[in-house]
Formats: sequence, structure tokens, C-alpha cells
Amino acid sequence: MKYISTRGSAPALNFEQVLLTGLAPDGGLYVPEHLPQWSREEMESWRGLEYRDLAHRIILPFVEECIPAADLKSLVDAAYSDFRHDAVAPLVQLDSNQWVLELFHGPTLAFKDFALQLLGHLLDYVMERRHEKVVIMGATSGDTGSAAIEGCRRCRNVDIFILHPHERVSNVQRRQMTTVTGDNIHNIAVEGNFDDCQAMVKASFADNSFLGGERSLVAVNSINWARIMAQIVYYVYASLALGGPAREVSFSVPTGNFGDIFAGYLAKCMGLPIAKLIIATNKNDVLHRVMTQERYARQEIHHTLSPSMDISISSNFERLLFDLYDRDGLAIADLMDNFAVGDVNFSASAMERARTLFDSRRVNDDETLAEIDHTYQHCSYTLDPHSAIGVRAARECHSQVSVPMVTLATAHPAKFPEAVAQSGRVPAPGLPPHMAALMDAEERFTVLPNELSTIHSFMARALAD
Ligand SMILES: *Cc1c(COP(=O)(O)O)cnc(C)c1O
Repeated sequence: MKYISTRGSAPALNFEQVLLTGLAPDGGLYVPEHLPQWSREEMESWRGLEYRDLAHRIILPFVEECIPAADLKSLVDAAYSDFRHDAVAPLVQLDSNQWVLELFHGPTLAFKDFALQLLGHLLDYVMERRHEKVVIMGATSGDTGSAAIEGCRRCRNVDIFILHPHERVSNVQRRQMTTVTGDNIHNIAVEGNFDDCQAMVKASFADNSFLGGERSLVAVNSINWARIMAQIVYYVYASLALGGPAREVSFSVPTGNFGDIFAGYLAKCMGLPIAKLIIATNKNDVLHRVMTQERYARQEIHHTLSPSMDISISSNFERLLFDLYDRDGLAIADLMDNFAVGDVNFSASAMERARTLFDSRRVNDDETLAEIDHTYQHCSYTLDPHSAIGVRAARECHSQVSVPMVTLATAHPAKFPEAVAQSGRVPAPGLPPHMAALMDAEERFTVLPNELSTIHSFMARALAD
């Protein structure tokens, strides 16, 4: 399989190259040149497979020119071995035809583990074969950092440096990163804010000479194709469990960067019968506004009870736009150039197509709290604030009651105890046993000034050891 850029003028890459690349040189994002198509019979034959086996079948066509099937099997098995539920992604029924797909049984209790556990193993495998080592560098204001660190903890050929703003992430979030110890794991607390951290990461990618040319730098942010690929699997898994492919299923997805829901869209393109995909946003509603006003317009970031969805633009939306504009890369390049300097309007035909596939809802903090309470009172089920946004949007959009509606539960409620408490009457969710030890475990991190040269010399020294 070849991967091409959404802006039409970068060279096509194979899977291994795409794994090690962030943005395409033309500024676009990589997408598969052609998608595999699943027949009814093929999907039927997958029913009853364990999650890991299903993941292997679905992922193989995307990687097979670079990774032999047997090797992929070991990588997938290893990636999902640290999940603490035998089903990996269990379905829970809320009421007569509303379901929740629990994507929070991985090591950091959020859905990002699905992609980042696999990504760590893929990178380590590829680097072993190339006899090379890579450096992952990222900035985090919370959750992505811990999921990336957990994904790399056993990698022999990957060193990971995660920058977080000193004393500006929550205790639990910091401990989820700093209690993972290993010679290849480096937590840096920067005396600055999140934007400072991100700016230093960006500058390091623009000029990585501080690494002495011996290692390449890899980004693991949500534009990495391998992350999207891993997320396709659970849509199929849920559909099969609910009677698919003989029956349509709808999904409601708490959305930030549009990575998770884009994977659902791909599943539909490959043949999975999905009735509707619901874009559920918090007050940061750039995508809800796109769907209702056909206009792509930045807004400043609002801080909400669902911080992992606090974004001003959704980078992966460009991947959908590419399809909505009939894969005309130059048209996308034009649109994005215009967007760099101001708001843009999308064509009516593109938006008409978008609305046949997607529905959208915006859910504010008060509604989020009301939903946590409502679901607890009616279903004795505790939602985290991100998942609550999904369930609320699902209920509001569920017009075809015969079609099962599945909300992706993207985080464990114990990660957001303050929001659950604020909802009023819902008892505090307990931390799973392995997390309970978190508050006593030893931490390891280095506090450094907000200064690029100091960060770079710290990294060079750590890699030389
Ligand atoms: C990252 C995240 C999201 C948003 O996912 P996108 O792929 O960015 O749309 C939703 N919920 C939680 C808990 C997350 O960590």
C-alpha cells in the first residue's frame, strides 16, 4: 500500500516511511492511496474473533509490504496484552438500544492507548530491523504524554522525551508519566507553560542538529497515520458484536482532533455498514460550526471539563476534506493556504456529502454534568466527562431507534473525579487497583528552564549515557 499527501505534491511513501514521518513535505497529511474493501462474507467470517485477531486481519493490508503477517501478529498481541479487560474493548448496554464501547482499559485508562501501544511496538520493530534508534519528542498538557510513554516503556530502540509545563498538570497526570521508569524514558518539567513546551518541540523538529545526525526524531501526535489505522479496529469489533455487517450501527464520538472519528469514517468506506457518525464536541465546537455553517473558522480555546477535547482546530479534518473534494490535493492546498490567513467557506457539494455521513452536536459543561448525573440515575453507570458528551449527543441524534447507537467511552471516570463530583449525586469512581499504587510510586523527572539550548544539551547528554 502506498500513502499519498492530502496536498497533492509530496512523494508517495510506503508504510515504514509513513510511520516515521509526521507532516508531508507539502504540509499535507498522509492517507492510503486506495482503501481495502471488505466483502460481506469476509466481515461475517470475522465474527467471534478475539480483539487481537481481528486487529491483525484489519491492519495487515495497510502494512504488509513492510511487515510480514507473522511478525505483525506478535506486535499486535504484545500491544494489547497490557489491557485489563479480556474483551480489550467491551460493550456495555445503557438502555434499550444505546451502548457504550469502553476504550479505557489500557495502561493509562484512555482510548489513546489503543493507538500508542501499537505505535511503540511498530517503531521498535522497524528500528531493530534498520539497526537504528529513534528519538520521540513531544509536549503534553496531560494525557497524550502518558499514553506515549506507556507505549514506549519496553522499546529498546526508542528514547522518548516528553515535555510538560512544570506544576501545571494535575497530580494524577504527572504521576502517570513520571512513575514509569526506564533508561529510555525522559520526563522534562519545563519552567513555562504548555505553549512554551510545544514551541520547543516544534523548533527541535525544524532543526534536529542537536542530535548529531545519528538519530532521527519522530512525532507521535495524532496526525501519525499508524494511530488512525489502529483505531479502525474497534468500530468493526463493536459492529460485529451488535449484528453487523447484516445490520447498520451508528457511533457517537467525543471529538477533538478528528482522529478517532476519522477512523470510523474509514471503516465505513471499507464496507462496514455504519448509519451515522456523530461528531460530539464540547464548547470548542469548530467542527460543529463547520457542519452547521459550512465555514471553517478558528476560535480561541475554551477550557472545559473535557480537557482532551479542548482544541481550536482539528488537524485530521483535512483528511476528510481531501475525500470531500474528490481527492483534489491542489484544491486542499489552496483551501489550507487560505485558512492559514483567515476563515474559509467549504463548497456546498462537499458539505452536502459530509452531512450524509456525519451529524454533530455541541455539549457545554452544564450539559456534560447533567448527563453524568442522568446516566447514573437511569443506568447506574458512571461516565467520564468526555464520554458524557458522546452519550448526550448520541441521545439527541438518535432518530432511527432500530439502529444501535454506540458511544465511544474515551476515558475512565476515575481520571476525572472532580467533574464526576461536580455533577452532584454520583458516587466517586474508584481508581482501578493498578492505578491506586500510583500516588505512592517513586517519580522521576527533571526540571529545566524554559530554554531551548538547555533542553537540547540535556537530551544529547541523556542519549550519550
Ligand atoms: C484525545 C481524546 C479525545 C479526542 O480524540 P480525537 O482523536 O482527538 O478526536 C476524546 N476523549 C479523550 C479522553 C481523549 O484523550
